[in-house]
Parts: sequence; C-alpha cells; structure tokens
Amino acid sequence: MSNAYDVALFWFRRDLRDYDNAGLAAALQSARQVYCVFVFDRDILDLLPRKYDRRVDFICRSIGELGAALRKRGGGLLLRHGRASEEIPRLAREVGASAVFTNHDYEPRALARDEKVAAQLHNLRIDFRTFKDQAIFERDEVLTQAGTPFTVFTPYKNAWLKRLSDADLAVRDVELSAQHLAHPSAAVAPPAVAEIAIPAALGFEPTNINDLLPAGMSGANSLLDDFRQRIAQYREARNFPAVKGVSYLSVHLRFGTISIRELARIAQAEQTAGADTWLSELIWRDFYFQILYHFPYVATSAFRPQYNRLKWENSTSLFQAWCEGRTGYPIVDAAMRQINETGYMHNRLRMIVASFLTKDLLIDWRWGEQYFADNLNDFDLAANNGGWQWAASTGCDAQPYFRIFNPVTQSEKFDPRGKFIHKYLPELAAVPDQYINAPWTLPAAERQAGHVLIGRDYPAPVVDHTRARAKALALYKAVKIAPDDPGSAAD
Ligand code: FAD
Repeated sequence: MSNAYDVALFWFRRDLRDYDNAGLAAALQSARQVYCVFVFDRDILDLLPRKYDRRVDFICRSIGELGAALRKRGGGLLLRHGRASEEIPRLAREVGASAVFTNHDYEPRALARDEKVAAQLHNLRIDFRTFKDQAIFERDEVLTQAGTPFTVFTPYKNAWLKRLSDADLAVRDVELSAQHLAHPSAAVAPPAVAEIAIPAALGFEPTNINDLLPAGMSGANSLLDDFRQRIAQYREARNFPAVKGVSYLSVHLRFGTISIRELARIAQAEQTAGADTWLSELIWRDFYFQILYHFPYVATSAFRPQYNRLKWENSTSLFQAWCEGRTGYPIVDAAMRQINETGYMHNRLRMIVASFLTKDLLIDWRWGEQYFADNLNDFDLAANNGGWQWAASTGCDAQPYFRIFNPVTQSEKFDPRGKFIHKYLPELAAVPDQYINAPWTLPAAERQAGHVLIGRDYPAPVVDHTRARAKALALYKAVKIAPDDPGSAAD
C-alpha cells in the first residue's frame, strides 16, 4: 500500500457494494484510513414525480446491507441527506480527508454535479479522484481506426471484444488491515443507518419492491445464481415475457449491487451461445454509455437531427390510454400494467410498447422515454434513451423507420397463448387462446358465452394498426434524408 493520503473519503453512488469496487479499492490502496459515505441527494430526490418510488426503497434496502457489510469489515457507512455538491466537500473537511474517491457516472446531471464538487474540493485543496467502475470500456476506450466514436453496434462490439483482456475483467479488491476502513465516530456519524436509510425518513412511502425483487448485494447474488442455471438457454428464452428467460439483474447493474466485471467474466467463461448472446447485451450497455458520452445532445433530441422535425400528433388522451394500459391491444396493455405494478418491463415488451407509442399513436418518443424514466426500477438514461431512439428510428443504430411492429403478430409470436397477457389483464380471462392477441375479433357467439364485451369489459383498439402504420410512414418519409428502402414493411 502506497499511502499517498493519510485520510480519504470514498463516496458511494451507483456502486453499492463493498467488493470488486474500483474506486473503493483505489482509496484503500492509497490512504491509511478511508471513510465511506452515501448521500441521499436532494437534487435527485426532489426531481422524482411521486413519493411512491420503488428505487428509493431499493436504495434504502441496499444501503442497509452495505452499511452492515462495511461494519463487519471494521468500518462503517456515513449517511447524509442533502445536496451532494454541498455535503461531500463539507464531510471531507469534517473527517480531515485529503482526497475524495468515487466512481465515474456518465449522465449529464451527474457530470455537472461532479464538476461542482471537484471545484469546491479544489478550493479546499482536497484531491478528487474518480475511476471507471460501472462499464468495462468507457468514453474513448473503444474507437474506430479513424479515432472516432462508433455509432453502429456490431463493429463496436467486435472492437470491444478484440480489446478485451483479462486485466479489464480483473477483480478490483485489496486486503484490508484492521484500522483501514475508518469507523465513523459519533462526531461525524449521526444519524445511524437505520434512522435515515428508510423511505419515510426521506419523505417517501414504502413500496412493494421487496416482494418483487431482492435488494442489495445478496439479492443480486441470488438472482445471479438462479440465472447461471439458465444462461445457456438465454438466446432462445429471452424473447418470451411469460418465460423466465432473462437475468432480471438490470436494477442491480443500475445501482452497482453487482459488479459488471463479474458478470462479463461469467458470460465469457460459459462459452455457450446463450452466454455469448448475454455478453452482447452487456456490450449494448457500454455502447449506449459511450453514445451518451460522445453525443450528449441525444438526452434531449434525436441522434439523427432530421428526425427532430417529425410532426408528432401527440394526443394526450391516447398517451393516457397507453400509460394506463387501455389501448385495446392486449400485449401493449399487459406490458404497461407490468411496468405500473412492478417497475419492470421485459425487453421484448419495451420494444413493442415503444414502437406502438411512436408509430401507432404518433406520439413523440420523449414522452414515452420520460414515462419509463419515472417508472422503471432500472432506469438508466443511456440505455433508456438508446432503447427509445432505437424503437422510434431516430437513433444511431436504430430500427429502420419503415419497420413497424404489428402489435398483434408480435403478440402471436412472443406470447402465443397469452400466458403473459392473462397475468396482467384478468378482464380477458374468458377470452379463448386463439383470440387473446386480438380480442376484438372474437365472434359474437363466443363473446356472449364468455361474457366479455369489447368496449365495456376491455377497450376496443384505440387506433387501427393498418391506418396508423400508413400515417407513420408518411410522417417519417416527410423528413427522412437517407434513401432507405421501404421494401420489408412490417415485423
Ligand atoms: P437481460 O436480458 O438479462 O440483460 C442483461 C443486462 O444487459 C441488463 O440487465 C442490462 O444491463 C443490459 N442490457 C440488456 N439489453 C440492453 C439494451 N438494449 N441496452 C442497454 N443495456 C442492455 N435497460 C436499462 O438498464 N435501463 C433502462 O432504462 C432501459 N430502458 C429501455 C427502454 C427501451 C424502450 C428499450 C427497448 C430497452 C431498454 N432497456 C433499458 C434495455 C433492456 O430492456 C433492459 O436492460 C432489460 O430488459 C433488463 O432486464 P434484464 O436485466 O433481465 O436483462
């Protein structure tokens, strides 16, 4: 240990774990004593639209576990509730730190916050040292031969794989000596973890997240153990929302209760088609981080600027029907009820509802992006923006504008007997399997037998897909520049 600093402060953000944590390991390597802190940041909490927020609950539970893990290792976790940009410099001074360590964040607001913190620490003559932790490769690490950022996924992925070495996936950990992690003394510690790391103490309500998803490092590990039994089947199983085919680890990746290096190591070691496909998904995550980093304007506008001129219809009543799962298209409605009831939505469904909002309802992708941002447990600006711009055909490596998902054929393909639909739309329980994807086609005799009345028990379709599709094509054609070939139309 080089002990460049006597005392340092480590600031947890999207990395809520005490192992394989690049910034924490670096702090422990370079300081004799390291204090740890997490700030419930008012600048973030005040922006949340509701006091019922599963993410706040998830963070509280994960923080509780992290605090206990650090105490077990002889240290502890300081908690602050205020503006991180003020709390961090203040606390650094209080504990007598000569450096603050933390891990990189790539979102514009976080970058602005970090700049502010860095400037204040600079004035106090305290170093601010930041590390790559939540991505395998970040920023400029994977570039084209011309030195420019990749904007198409497959060549990015190939370059990413070519660059990868064991060192990129190595565990970031250090052996601890007894006094290494500082135990917060009463002077800097109050209040205790149990008093502050609960939603009520932050002005939030408890949620149902604990019934849905185990939190903390232990929760991530149990999900990972389960997924490892299924990873070889991932390629086939991942598209079916009624099948347990995916990992459900996204919220843990979002808050760093699991290490991306550990997941990439596992995916690499498996050497099955399923694991390869899963590794590709992890690479998509890095891909979108670097898109946001190099093209920060995507956070508010289209990657391809011509699509900023799209003349969306933006009907507020259709948007409301979409949000509430009342569009009359069961796969769309079941998906929207899934996000509303659980904060999660299966990837196939995210693509279907995003395509439906933009190309059937002709609503600006940013409205849907914001709805997801407010409601997804795993909300991540880079991945969410990438996913929405992909579906809306405004993005970098996007779905061509003329490929418009047909919500009925998508439903027939990926939820053929309506197992997923039935889970979230109990009002359709009496609809026979062969009509579940398009219940308005139910013959009159069957309607009476099953007592399902379209328009009363379940909405009639709010738009006609064929007509909406034609309108969407016209909308996009009016602004497109590249001579795309609208040969293959629907999917
Ligand atoms: P798995 O299939 O097990 O994948 C493993 C991990 O890979 C995920 O946890 C995630 O970290 C990453 N990943 C998978 N697919 C993608 C992708 N397309 N882009 C980037 N990373 C990916 N993912 C988010 O993490 N946050 C979001 O806010 C988000 N919004 C999305 C919005 C839209 C419109 C779309 C189409 C996709 C969005 N995704 C988002 C990507 C993807 O849907 C989720 O990561 C995935 O459904 C999470 O479930 P899982 O952990 O079981 O995924």
